[in-house]
Amino acid sequence: MNYRHAFHAGGFADVIKHIVLTRILIYLQEKEAAFRVIDTHAGAGLYDLTSEEASRSGEWRTGIARIMQARFSDSALPLVAPYLDIVRAFNPRAELVAYPGSPLIARAMLRPQDRMTACELAPIPRKHLIDALRRDTQARIVDLDGWVALPAFVPPNERRGLVLIDPPFEAKDEFERLGERFAAAFAKWPTGVYLIWYPAKSRRATDELAQRLADLTAAAKPPGKLLRIEFSVAPQIAGEGLASTGLLVVNPPWTLYDELRTILHELEKPLGQGGTARFRLEFPKASPGN
Ligand code: SAM
Repeated sequence: MNYRHAFHAGGFADVIKHIVLTRILIYLQEKEAAFRVIDTHAGAGLYDLTSEEASRSGEWRTGIARIMQARFSDSALPLVAPYLDIVRAFNPRAELVAYPGSPLIARAMLRPQDRMTACELAPIPRKHLIDALRRDTQARIVDLDGWVALPAFVPPNERRGLVLIDPPFEAKDEFERLGERFAAAFAKWPTGVYLIWYPAKSRRATDELAQRLADLTAAAKPPGKLLRIEFSVAPQIAGEGLASTGLLVVNPPWTLYDELRTILHELEKPLGQGGTARFRLEFPKASPGN
């Protein structure tokens, strides 16, 4: 396990993923009933943007730094404000020096009745996460393989909530494993909301994953829905860093598609690298006869 999210914290892929995360949690907050967030690959929680890793990659400079400076329309601003406010809360001075990862963003959105379970396998980021959430009675950090936790922890007692699946994609078979582990979890909890991140590099691998999930969700009773989001900041060049990020949302809130159309359109300019960025939003169809 070599993956170190500190290099990528606050980059464009984090920005898109975390805005979607906040929109889903805002929706879950609309009902009084408690929900649970299960973060299968949680990371360190808080990233120091002045660290050697973050400075070396500089990804946050073309991600969160641009978004904090961006001007949003009256329709997009209220939709991105919850995310921006959380990032600001970790940066009390004007300067941007820290970036919260998914478990701290989710934690900031829990109400007293809500809970979070976060898995992180690597000892160093796990220790940072434990430190960040020390004595927090609503958040549990577990030293468990996220791929084991994924089917084991669903459905949660609350029977409402979100599972974030954000693996590092270091292993060659990560797309297949994701498909299998998701299928096992979805069979146990077909009404949960699942947010899955993927690097949009290989069209074949990503299309296959989307198709597999579209077939699984369509076959559920009642049928679930799948929303696919891709956002490209530049054309992908072989051997270069990631230029396109992808997300699959299983059972998306009905409001999400329209919200993202509004938000992503306004992120195209600030996040573009050498031109305007592009996004794609679609509901992939199940295979014929499925
Ligand atoms: N979700 C985080 C966020 O949005 O801020 C970023 C997570 S990062 C992409 C992936 C994390 O998964 C890394 O911190 C890595 O150490 C951890 N990891 C890798 N394999 C794992 C496994 N099998 N189970 C749990 N965590 C794992």
